[in-house]
Formats: sequence, C-alpha cells, structure tokens
Amino acid sequence: MRALVVNPPTSGLRMEQVPDPTPGPDEVKVRVLEGGICGTDREIVAGRYGSPPPGRKDLVLGHENFGKVVEVGRSVQDLRVGDEVVATVRRGCGVCRFCRTQRSDFCETGMFTERGIKGRDGYFAEFYVDRPEYLVRIPRVHRLTAVLLEPLSVAEKAVQQARRVLDRTEGPPGTIAGRPRTALVVGTGALGMLSVFVLADEGFEVTAVDTYVGKCPASSVLSTVGVRYRDASAGLSVLGTERFDLILEATGSAALDFELATLLAPNGCLLLLGLPADDHRPFPVPGADLVRRLVLQNQAIVGSVNASRRYFAQGLRHLTLFRRRWGTVAEQLVTERLPWTDFASVVNGRRPAGIKWVLTMGG
Ligand SMILES: [Zn+2]
Ligand SMILES: [Zn+2]
Repeated sequence: MRALVVNPPTSGLRMEQVPDPTPGPDEVKVRVLEGGICGTDREIVAGRYGSPPPGRKDLVLGHENFGKVVEVGRSVQDLRVGDEVVATVRRGCGVCRFCRTQRSDFCETGMFTERGIKGRDGYFAEFYVDRPEYLVRIPRVHRLTAVLLEPLSVAEKAVQQARRVLDRTEGPPGTIAGRPRTALVVGTGALGMLSVFVLADEGFEVTAVDTYVGKCPASSVLSTVGVRYRDASAGLSVLGTERFDLILEATGSAALDFELATLLAPNGCLLLLGLPADDHRPFPVPGADLVRRLVLQNQAIVGSVNASRRYFAQGLRHLTLFRRRWGTVAEQLVTERLPWTDFASVVNGRRPAGIKWVLTMGG
C-alpha cells in the first residue's frame, strides 16, 4: 500500500510503498479516508521531532485521522465492517499506574508511543490496523468534522484541566460571584478555535487573539459564535488592562507564555498547549515578578498534553452541541480538502493562510 513516510531526524516527506497491514484476531483493519495536518506534522517533516518504530529508520506520518473499517478480526465484537472511526494516538507504556488504567495522557515513564509521532506508524497510509479499544465510532452526521476529533480531544482535556484549577475557589460552577468566567484563547489555528468553541459552549466569555497580518482566517467563524477577536500582531497591549480567569495558549512560543502570565486575573490559570521549537535559545524572564504574582494571587501555570479515549468521546458530544448552537462552524475550520498526492504544498506551508488542511486518501 502507499504511505507518507519520514526518516527522522532527517527532513522531508515522501510517498512510498510499505507492507499492507494484516489484522490479528483482536484487531480491525481500517481504510483511511482523511488525515489532518498540524504543526506537529510540520515539525516532524522538518526533522525537529518524531522517532521511528524500534529497529526502523522510517516512520509513517499522521495522527489526525478518519477512516472506515474494512476487515474485522474474529474475536472483535464491538466494530463491524463499514463502521466509520477515528483512532486515538497514544499507546500506553504498559508499566505505570496511569497507562494501566487507560490514562496514558498522564504517563509517568515517558515510554509511551504515539502513532505517527513517536515509535509507531501513523495514519497517512491507505490502511492501518489497531484494536477496537483505540477506535471511536463516528455517527454519519459528523463525517465532515470527524477528522477534527483528535485536536478537539486535546482541547477537551485542556478545558477540563483548567476548570479543575479554577474550581479551587469553590464558586458556583461556571461563574465567579455572579459574572461569567473570562477566557483568552491565544492562537486561532484549529486547536485554538476548537478550544474557543468548547469554552463558549461552557459559558465562558471568550476573547481570541492571534498575530495574523491581514485578515484572520477564523474571523467569520469567531463572529458566528459570538467571540470577540483582537489582532495582536502589534503585541498584547491591544488588550489594555484586561485580565482573564483562564488563558489558553495554542501557539508554541515560550517567550509569549511568560508575557501571557501577566494577563492573568487573581486565582487565574494559564494553560499551555503549544510546544515551542527546541531551539535552545535562552531569553530573560522577570522571574521574581512572576513568582510574586503567582503566590500572592493564587495563580497557576498548567501544561496539558494529548488525550485519552474519554476526551474523544467528550469531543463527539461537543460536535453535536456545536452543530445545534452554531450550525456548520466546526466544518468551516477545514480550509481545504485535497488529494493526499498533493501533500507537499501543505506540509511545506505553501498554501494561503487558513485553519486546517485535510488530505483525502480516497474511499
Ligand atoms: Zn495534531
Ligand atoms: Zn505510562
């Protein structure tokens, strides 16, 4: 079968013939219909991230996925041929207490693998096989947004983590002394926008910022969901003296993260999702000021990674709610679908500004 293959840490991506996978008795074989491209894929293609399976030099790329079951192992009960599914990404280490209880997103050993990223082949191929416990069945109504479920699961976990931190003050759920909680979402890529939807749906008063020069590709979707947009291309001073209960960062700039900490309201939470490039360039941080504010104002800086199956299920519930409230907003996050043979222009960033590019593998 054909697959999109990388050789980390060498840069580059190419289409190659790889062995067609055969499902074991407890596995299903899935024909990949669509794959979403994100910043992590671009980092891997650039040779800055990712590792092949043990004993190999090459890795099949791709973690954001949507496909159709075409073959079912004889002891599989939960899935049938024809079911449409999204696969989770992380596979637990099998050793730590979290991985042994299906919470590999909290793995303590770091020995987990991730399909298409770390030590395990991904989904940018004609087929893959996996066990049903890693597959989430997708109702037909969500076919056009299913490929967003993986990044949505990341947003789901992040918002849940943030709520737990904010709930330390034990106010009435979702409000602080009668006013809605405020959130600032930094970055209007797919992860930022999906976080905006979750937060808006959960009653936060949301502001979104990014640094697009020119028209922000997400601006019409933001106005549909009633979220305020600020152009921060000239800096965060555009927010004036506003402070936020929750700041959710989805850009991957470490310097920006420290600047964002100064915009936290008392008892606020800065939640970091973006992964900064590993460029080893140190920068100055006003550390004493930062720690004083964190201590005196009960603030928290929290990181959040990946997502267990439960957050995929929660994401599916939210896709239904988004559709009910705002129609096709989630579908509008897909800027373009193009045949996977055209992968080069997408991974090399040679397309006009947009939110999410999706490769179609056929079917
Ligand atoms: Zn991704
Ligand atoms: Zn583990």
